[in-house]
Amino acid sequence: MEKNIRVRFAPSPTGGLHLGGVRTALFNYLFAKQHNGTFVLRVEDTDQTRFVEGAEEYIVDCLNWCGITPDESPQKPGAFGPYRQSERKASYKQYAEQLIADGYAYYAFDTTEELNAKRATAPNFLYGQTTRMEMRNSLTLSENEVAELLAAQTPYVVRIKIPQNETVSFVDMIRGLVSFDTNLVDDKVLLKADGMPTYHLAVVADDKAMEISHAFRGEEWLPSAPIHILLWKYLGWEDSMPQWAHLPLILKPDGNGKLSKRDGDRLGFPVYAMNWTDPKTGDVTKGFKELGFMPEAFVNLLAMLGWNDGTDKEIFSLAELTELFSIDRISKAGAKFDFEKAKWYNHEWIKKSTAESLQPIVGNLLAEQHIAVKNEAFLLKVIDLVKDRCNLLGDFVSQGSYFFTAPNEYDSAAVKPKWGPEKAAFFQDFAQNLNTDSSALQLEEQFKALAETKGFKPGELMLPLRIMLVGGKFGPGVFDIAVLLGVEETQNRIEKGIAAFN
Ligand code: GLU
Repeated sequence: MEKNIRVRFAPSPTGGLHLGGVRTALFNYLFAKQHNGTFVLRVEDTDQTRFVEGAEEYIVDCLNWCGITPDESPQKPGAFGPYRQSERKASYKQYAEQLIADGYAYYAFDTTEELNAKRATAPNFLYGQTTRMEMRNSLTLSENEVAELLAAQTPYVVRIKIPQNETVSFVDMIRGLVSFDTNLVDDKVLLKADGMPTYHLAVVADDKAMEISHAFRGEEWLPSAPIHILLWKYLGWEDSMPQWAHLPLILKPDGNGKLSKRDGDRLGFPVYAMNWTDPKTGDVTKGFKELGFMPEAFVNLLAMLGWNDGTDKEIFSLAELTELFSIDRISKAGAKFDFEKAKWYNHEWIKKSTAESLQPIVGNLLAEQHIAVKNEAFLLKVIDLVKDRCNLLGDFVSQGSYFFTAPNEYDSAAVKPKWGPEKAAFFQDFAQNLNTDSSALQLEEQFKALAETKGFKPGELMLPLRIMLVGGKFGPGVFDIAVLLGVEETQNRIEKGIAAFN
């Protein structure tokens, strides 16, 4: 029988959720859903010094916004709880002790001062195979000394004893066979002086306890893999070890290194999924959501950072991704992040969305700007008319607000130099003869015919008309705008425009 598919997204609650983290969550989610499996959120909060208030709730909000809600989480516990590492504290110590008893780990009593002194004499000091016998630990002290130190409650850490001259290998689902030389791995701390496990011990113990079958995580964790593989073996759990997939890095736009929050600040684009407010400083870092991304677009663009379906297709819904996702189409190479491309995805999703689905969002955006929408049917028509011109949701305000309030300011510089009484007369005439039933096409024909009889090229008159109706040189077809505004409003705006230009 195939074992149940259980995957986990295991963030540390330390601040804003980086888009790379959301992509990790997404790939876990897609894999789980594709196999009728379970997507678990586990909060890795054992590092008390990095814990940030509110970060867990924020992560949950981000996942919900993306539509990749976990099946099991601290908020929705299943049968494998607790879902916060700090709440599992008691279980880790016994594993550390088991490892010591079996000779795979040891107590280290070195004080911070002793370690600092060592580092001062050996700048590249690593606690491990070549140095451990010079230190104060249960490998160098007698059994009695160790027992006495423990009885006296002397602070200690537990370190893994990395073997010499071994090769640790595993088959990564993306990278194939990956091997590590143990001589290059140091004796990482497993249990800290405060009794909390480090990430290395906790991740292994929790993946085991939660029966995780597959683990997708960022490539930055690849160097930690040999420690985890050894722990799985040393704890006697090799048969239940999850299959690993280390996802390619998300790179800076120029491809030089991993994309960081600082790159986003420097280059003017978001890196976090949603706005993050630092609880200490109150500083707000902008997120994709608040910048006007649709969750569908965000998820879509993240999936394409390192994956494709083998064709040129780029627009996928979450349901399509769930169906088509395959590990063998995840690339090994890092994926460059391109904000212009990210906006293109959003633009495509806005275009693809129905006016009805956009209505609540656009309605709120207009309300925030104190733009009154009296008629919802009218709003739907506006959305349909301008959505092709919006990259971000906020663009609906700049692209649509003139439908609700007549312009008060005009781009006069574009009109005035060529304005004169003949043009004013033309527009008077045009406005007076507007017909309620005209379609945009008919209106355009009327406009052109009238222009000709008055000796104008229609082109010279279209821009002034647009500026009268809109205020500036933008927007969809000017006759579409006029039809949507209706005869009376169009007449009013033309008259107001004539007055402004005269
Ligand atoms: N807590 C780690 C992180 O913050 C999890 C790494 C893993 O998935 O093993 O990304």
